[in-house]
Parts: sequence; C-alpha cells; structure tokens
Amino acid sequence: MPGGRLYIVATPIGNLEDITYRAVRILKAVDAIAAEDTRHSLKLLSALGIQKPLISYWSENEKARSEDVLNSLRAGFSVALISDAGTPGISDPGSVLIKKAIEEGIEVIPIPGPSAAIAALSVSGLPTEEFTFIGFLPSKSGQRRKRMEQLALEERTLVFYEAPHRIVEMSEDLLAVFGDRQALVMREISKLHEQTFRGPLSRILEELTSSTIAGEYVVAVAGMMKESVSVDVALQEIRALMKKGFGRKEAVKRVAESYGLSKKELYDKSLE
Ligand code: SAM
Repeated sequence: MPGGRLYIVATPIGNLEDITYRAVRILKAVDAIAAEDTRHSLKLLSALGIQKPLISYWSENEKARSEDVLNSLRAGFSVALISDAGTPGISDPGSVLIKKAIEEGIEVIPIPGPSAAIAALSVSGLPTEEFTFIGFLPSKSGQRRKRMEQLALEERTLVFYEAPHRIVEMSEDLLAVFGDRQALVMREISKLHEQTFRGPLSRILEELTSSTIAGEYVVAVAGMMKESVSVDVALQEIRALMKKGFGRKEAVKRVAESYGLSKKELYDKSLE
C-alpha cells in the first residue's frame, strides 16, 4: 500500500463521552486532522487534549481540499477525517476524498462510533432487520412530497434526518403520504434535551406541535406493511403485468403472493 493511512473517525453526536478509546488514540497518533469545521472540531480536540495541524474539509471545498489531503497521504503522512458530528460521509462530507484515496490504493480505515441514524433506529422499536437510510429529503415541499411518494411502497423501515425548522412540516407530509404508520422522532440524542416521540405519526405530530422545536432530529418510519397494501395498488400492478404480456391468472397469482392478498378476491376485482 502506498502512502500514509486515511482514518475515517466517528466523533460524538452530542455527549462527549461517546468517543471511543481507539478514536482518541488515532486522533493523537495521526500527523494531521481533516475537519468539516475546524473551529467546531477545535472544541472537541481541546477537550481531549489533542493539538494537531488541521485541514479544513467542508462540502463546498471538498474537491479542492481532497487534493491537499491526498498530497499529505501520498507523502506518507497519516490523516484522520472527522466531521462536525457522528460518522464522516454519512450525510456529511467525506465521500469525494474516500473515493479518490481508494482509487490511489491508499489504505482507508474506519474508526467506528456514533451515528444519529443508528442510535435512533436502535431504540425505535420498529423492524431493524432491514432498513433504508434516506438522510435529508429535499427542502422544498413539492419535491419532498414527490420523494416520499417514490418511497411509499418501500417495505423496509425508513430513516430520515431533518432540520428543526422543517420537522413539523415534514411530519405532516409523512402522514399525508404514508398514512398513519408507526414511527419514531428523536430530538437531541445524547444531549441535555434529548426527547423521544413514538407511536402513530398522527400522535407524534400532535406531540411535536406542542413541544419546543429546537435542536437536531432523526425520524424513522415503519415501511409499508404488505397486508396494508390497498387493493387499488394491487390492481394497478396486475394491469401493468398484463400489459407486459402476462395472462390475468398469472398476474393475479404473482401480485397476490407478493402482497399476501387473496387470489380469488383479486381475480374477481380485476374482472370488474
Ligand atoms: N454524520 C452524522 C451522523 O453520522 O449521524 C450526520 C450529520 S448530518 C449533517 C446532521 C443531521 O444528523 C442533523 O440535522 C440531524 O438530523 C442528525 N443528527 C445529528 N446529531 C443528532 C443528535 N444528537 N440528535 C438527533 N439528530 C442528530
């Protein structure tokens, strides 16, 4: 492997105790630290008693700064990448540098730790065998609803990040598009004002609107339950399969099996 190593180091999402021994050791050992916001990271590093050359690495200058970091790595220096909170590259800058480093054969090593999505999911009580991480939805209402509509048939638990000034509006859209599904909203995980809202989206929305809206939020929503698929959606799929050349019987069989619906009921409805 040529050059130095690039460490992708997860840092706390609030509580400073949520940093691993290994993360501290690596941050102390590297030659330089690339940070999303150097002023923000200085607080963490000084709390840990770490003084290192810092390279500013934020989304706007990701391409240009990747080159600076790569030059250090090529010269044999080791660099740790950290973001403002949690795991770099997860709704945070990092992917450009990581991709380039991999292309150059530089060793990229994860130093695992907190991520808000996983923390929220772990206490959601929603199915976690499979889940889909969406991160931030578009900020404009029309585009946001459109994206939600694309996700409406997703069967896996969905995980979103949202800014405080949009959390109520976003939850209203979720209720309108997904119906009253089970969900979780978590605010300020691991911080003083940590708050957890669980239950059907309608109840969460009521509680949210009467709560203090501030800080950071993660939202997890149950995926579409197969049984809850409406007969209309199933009929649309049957029509689509028939257009592709499937016979009615075969199309009904496939859709009924996929959604756990009654074949006879669907067949009769498809004739209406
Ligand atoms: N890289 C981070 C991670 O691994 O979780 C995510 C960074 S992203 C720019 C910031 C978003 O993550 C926030 O807007 C919020 O949705 C979520 N987030 C980060 N810290 C959080 C916390 N302590 N509580 C709730 N949500 C948090």
